[in-house]
Amino acid sequence: MAIQLLPPQLANQIAAGEVVERPASVVKELVENSLDAGATRVNIDIERGGSKLIRIRDNGAGIPKEELALALSRHATSKVHSLDDLEAILSFGFRGEALASISSVARLSLTSKTAEQTEAWQAFAEGSQMDVKVTPAAHPQGSTIEVVDLFFNTPARRRFLKSDKTEFSHIDEWLKRIAIARSDIHFTLTHNGKQVRQYRPANTDIQHQQRMGQICGRQFAENALNVACEHDGLSLKGYLQSPFDTVVSDSNYFYVNGRLVRDKLVNHAVKQAFAEQGIEHLPGYVLMLSLDPHQVDVNVHPAKHEVRFHQSRYVHDFILQALQSALIQIHQVLPTVDNS
Ligand code: ADP
Ligand code: MG
Repeated sequence: MAIQLLPPQLANQIAAGEVVERPASVVKELVENSLDAGATRVNIDIERGGSKLIRIRDNGAGIPKEELALALSRHATSKVHSLDDLEAILSFGFRGEALASISSVARLSLTSKTAEQTEAWQAFAEGSQMDVKVTPAAHPQGSTIEVVDLFFNTPARRRFLKSDKTEFSHIDEWLKRIAIARSDIHFTLTHNGKQVRQYRPANTDIQHQQRMGQICGRQFAENALNVACEHDGLSLKGYLQSPFDTVVSDSNYFYVNGRLVRDKLVNHAVKQAFAEQGIEHLPGYVLMLSLDPHQVDVNVHPAKHEVRFHQSRYVHDFILQALQSALIQIHQVLPTVDNS
């Protein structure tokens, strides 16, 4: 075959392979967009595990009419304009790929209104050139993204979808991860018209504890040790499950500058801090690390599940120290930890 440029839709479908694995990955990308747009309220409606419908409604900044078509095209983003921006990134998005990818493997429509506009507009992309149509619509300030019939045109991917129940549980699980880190946001989640979750914004300690209890279980929330440590531009905040809890929680959530990541470093530090107390299990934890974005590379993984620290040893030791000082709290309850 002769070398040819791929038509836009096919190029986007190939890119979608990396970021759109299942309905939960669509929800992740769209909710992250809502948060990047400064929304305080995000409503998520799912039908048939997300294979029929994923609808995300937010009250964020909205997208101006002139930018709707761009928002749907690949490599179009309002979040980075230079390498310097990328190296100091704090938003979830920066690849400018999610909307283009999703709209190449589903029927995606985007309805939005900014504060300055008097009217709302709706956009969708169609055909192999992904031409964008923009029509007037009704919508309050913010955006609604509707994703219908996910993978309808990529049968091989559609076959990989599990049961509605399983796909929905991935969405629910993913929402927990973001809801625990963003307790300032009001989230609702419905499945087939029934409300399944409601996370109300938490302003007081009690409300924080309630949200934690909803997500990590009551025992964890009631007994958790507070972690709060700052040193030399690094900050670690969050909760560590009490070593005395009878049920070991599998809520292990680690965030770097607000982004949920998988990293062996934090598990290692938590295990070590517990082992020093003579406890061999890995407890539940919700830990949020903040550091200068220049000290961490977030552009390592298309779905951004991984990051690379420039000084990982230093970060590890900082986390360990923060946990060690949190664990001192247990000695204020009991003189020694008897784990026999
Ligand atoms: P990225 O998030 O990496 O920039 P996306 O494809 O997810 O790429 O989104 C493209 C652009 O569309 C974003 O940069 C943003 O300007 C705009 N956008 C997407 N979703 C929303 C939303 N819910 N509210 C406001 N703007 C949005
Ligand atoms: Mg995005």
